[in-house]
Amino acid sequence: VFTASRVAAAPEDPLFGLAKAYREDPSDKKIDLGIGAYRDNNAKPWILPVVKKADDAIHNDPNLNHEYLAIGGLPDLTAAAQKLVVGAESPAIREKRICTLQTISGTGAVHLGGLFLSKFHPLKPTIYLSDPTWANHNQIFTNVGLNIAKYPYFSAKTKGLDFDGMVQALQAAPTGSVVVLHACAHNPTGVDPTQEQWRAIAAVMRERNQFPFFDTAYQGFASGDLNRDAWAIRYFVEQGFEMCVAQSFAKNFGLYGERTGAFHFVSAPGSDASEANAHIASQLAILQRSEISNPPAYGARIASRILNDPVLFAQWEEDLRTMSGRIQEMRRGLRERLEARGTPGTWDHITSQIGMFSFTGLNEAQVQTLRSKWHVYMTKNGRISMAGLNTNNIDYFAEAVDSVVR
Ligand code: PMP
Repeated sequence: VFTASRVAAAPEDPLFGLAKAYREDPSDKKIDLGIGAYRDNNAKPWILPVVKKADDAIHNDPNLNHEYLAIGGLPDLTAAAQKLVVGAESPAIREKRICTLQTISGTGAVHLGGLFLSKFHPLKPTIYLSDPTWANHNQIFTNVGLNIAKYPYFSAKTKGLDFDGMVQALQAAPTGSVVVLHACAHNPTGVDPTQEQWRAIAAVMRERNQFPFFDTAYQGFASGDLNRDAWAIRYFVEQGFEMCVAQSFAKNFGLYGERTGAFHFVSAPGSDASEANAHIASQLAILQRSEISNPPAYGARIASRILNDPVLFAQWEEDLRTMSGRIQEMRRGLRERLEARGTPGTWDHITSQIGMFSFTGLNEAQVQTLRSKWHVYMTKNGRISMAGLNTNNIDYFAEAVDSVVR
């Protein structure tokens, strides 16, 4: 029988604990580099101007109501989300072999894909995750009963991609394995394969008949260019892979708490691809129904308005450049300051890494000293959120890093 009192306490979520310690620190010098959300130069959350505009228009819309969305979500959003990720001219769209459901942000999309694979994949495939990866990947795939394994990704030596290690691991992984790939701005390392490396990864996966599961949480936020950040996904589609894509609109629209995202299933080309894809869509709808019935409307309306209006879309691209540009500026600024101080070690990885996060190479003891002595908060693997840096705290942070590294 179930005995509630036998349920052991779960460990605290490490990021949650970090945020709490930061909040409780009374120092006026404190810096929060843990949070995975964009901050402006005043360390404040930023509502994208285009989101504010779309939001105002929705509020003034006399036809607005609070009815349920369809099981698959807002059709205008899911159609636009497809175009955004695979490209408007994609053969997958033209040949009607991509289906899309709106989800509870990127987390819900990864979950829906994991659930689908655990139910419908005949072999209960092992899910290969990069080492390291976004911590939630481990939990989400494990929770739906799938086995997980790791492939090498980050080289501690170069603070770049362990390309050889990754390729060898994929060559050794069983045929048919599912491989989770971060489309751009890898979390937590900020390290992405080059286009040439992506081609080689695709070639190995093709040869091993492996199944890509793309997680795209930073399109446009990484480089400031929506097409460039979608390059890897579009290349794999071009190569004829069957695949899943989990898409988040949390970062690129700043819609974190509105839980807006999409899950896509792309079927491989072939004469029955469109029919097979429709079957998959129907099964996904059943799963979605039992999990969430239908997705939340508010963020979907905002994103949909922006994606479907050319003027708003152009303004969104501008806002994306504002966010990615500020982050790139902080990368350059931090590297410059450390190099100017002659801080031991090399710091070029700060500018070659991309997106929200940088894997600094700081070790756990150094991270601990930064916290206790300098009131700087980051995860113990040495990951910093670049968005937590700004022109007011970057000098202090460089001084702190210099001091703990020496
Ligand atoms: N995947 C990765 C790699 C992420 O970094 C994130 C955001 N931390 C997500 C998915 C999903 O986040 P959300 O559920 O807020 O969209």
